[in-house]
Amino acid sequence: MFPRINIYLDRIYQNAKKLKGILNTIEIMGVTKGVCGDPFIAKEMLKGGVDYIGDSRIENIIKMRRKGIESKIFQIRSPQLSEIRKTVKYTDGVFISEISIAKAIAEYSRLIGKKIGIIVMVELGDLREGVMPEDVLNFINESRNYGAEILGIGTNLGCFGGVVPTKEKMEDLLKIKETLESHGIDIKIVSGGATDTISLFEKEIIPGINQLRIGEAILLGNDTTGNRRIEYLRHDTFTIEAEIIELKEKPSIPYGVIGRDAFGNIPHHIDKGKRKRAILALGRQDVDIESLIPTEGGLEILGGSSDHIIIDVTDSQNNYKVGDKISFYPLYPSLLKAMCSKGVKKRYIKETN
Ligand SMILES: *Cc1c(COP(=O)(O)O)cnc(C)c1O
Repeated sequence: MFPRINIYLDRIYQNAKKLKGILNTIEIMGVTKGVCGDPFIAKEMLKGGVDYIGDSRIENIIKMRRKGIESKIFQIRSPQLSEIRKTVKYTDGVFISEISIAKAIAEYSRLIGKKIGIIVMVELGDLREGVMPEDVLNFINESRNYGAEILGIGTNLGCFGGVVPTKEKMEDLLKIKETLESHGIDIKIVSGGATDTISLFEKEIIPGINQLRIGEAILLGNDTTGNRRIEYLRHDTFTIEAEIIELKEKPSIPYGVIGRDAFGNIPHHIDKGKRKRAILALGRQDVDIESLIPTEGGLEILGGSSDHIIIDVTDSQNNYKVGDKISFYPLYPSLLKAMCSKGVKKRYIKETN
């Protein structure tokens, strides 16, 4: 059945193992949100040596629990007040930045007799989630008064503001840890960041930062924020295959009165004369068209809509026909969509035992 995503489990395992080797004593939280909390992928990450699992969504976490993932799992996006019960029940810890959430967690924990750990996110300039540095001490004191269990602090860079994780940012985080400890607060975990922080640690281990939360590097071998392919990791971990449902020679310029395309954009086309075009049964509902890389040369993605992708196959060596498949390496946005789309079948591939 097509479209389908081929998942090369051993290669994901190899990426996790390689990173564990490089990061050594730093704990790795393997982040599964990019694959919709896929339990088989989470298992490979754990087998490869990640210390625990992180996901942003409680539904993904529940799915992993039901499929037998028994490792520690953290919710890395703050739970919503409306889902605190599930969070306390199914996770071992959370990353939060609002006191009302700490309070709700502490109250429900007391009610059911199960504590979970709290890592307080600190704002260091990227302006996504985080408590302002000068408010962290009060935040933690107040949380503890409610009975919450504070495990540590963390930061997230490179997501909203595109702020690069530098040694200085890590030192800012460590200074906050020192201040907290001088007030008698034990900080077990200092969570330095995500895939984009790996490059800092390849050069030198920064003592004190003892956890990284890594998704993209394990899943795809890429560091999109840092704009690099991580050369020592595998990039052939997933392929998406789709079937050709129309193949015809057509002009390369639309004709008629031109308005907007299906997504409200004004289309731009270059006249290359008549071209051989394939239409695939795959669309924006399943993937992000801009983040697909054909696995074979001579193919150009022209565009698409909810349920179609149009490919110029004129320069391909292959003599495609209707029913043939074309395959792509997904970048992160396509991986995320494909793994969460009900329309894309999953095929798990193990090359070794
Ligand atoms: C998504 C996410 C990560 C993982 O990011 P990658 O770039 O995929 O490694 C880490 N931390 C938080 C808070 C996240 O939301």
